Amino acid sequence: MWLILIIILVIFVYYGIPYIYGKYAKRTLKNKAVKSRVLALTFDDGPSDNLTLAIMDLLDKYNAKASFFLLGRNIAGRENIVKQISVRGHDICSHGFDHLNYLKISPWCSIKDIKKGWDAIDSALGIDKEKYLFRPPYGKLNIVSLAYLLLKKVHVVYWTDDSGDSWKTKPSSDRVAKLIDNSLGAVILNHDFNRREKQTESWVLESVRLALEKAKEKNMSIVTVSQLN
Ligand SMILES: [Zn+2]
Repeated sequence: MWLILIIILVIFVYYGIPYIYGKYAKRTLKNKAVKSRVLALTFDDGPSDNLTLAIMDLLDKYNAKASFFLLGRNIAGRENIVKQISVRGHDICSHGFDHLNYLKISPWCSIKDIKKGWDAIDSALGIDKEKYLFRPPYGKLNIVSLAYLLLKKVHVVYWTDDSGDSWKTKPSSDRVAKLIDNSLGAVILNHDFNRREKQTESWVLESVRLALEKAKEKNMSIVTVSQLN
């Protein structure tokens, strides 16, 4: 009997607490975005060869800044793009190194992945900042990785709405604009990794353009996640 209770307790602490934390953090994020009437555009899994630059060019046209959650393994050979993200005033954040699901690997592997992701950004920028705002791959953390981030005083940044650009087979480019139209504030999840088909990259750009147009129409400020946190 005691053994079963201990097992349940361990499972709750390891999986349950980070799950509840994630729910709470998402709700808090939504409240902040709505209260300030802002839109934050976030891009995961980059940088990529063309799309990241094309997104930044588009953002420039609207004088808008966004947040890029870089995947460490995609940085090698694209250090110049990472530098441009920084120079052009966008938020550089981390999405880990290998896009691992932290619920499916050991706690020490998850911490190693977080550190490796931060190190990859540091070496691309030639600085020693050591930590960056963090978004866990798949939005999943175990208790050890969550505790590690909290001890490091690193914000875990979730999202309020998903553009669907990584999983929808037939994405509609006005999905995000419609979301914004029905919302008073949002933190949108987009992806800027290399696409196999050019057509998909065009869809991502059109989706971002329509989102920026809608925000302008609704008079919403566009902020980065560091401005929101
Ligand atoms: Zn991702």
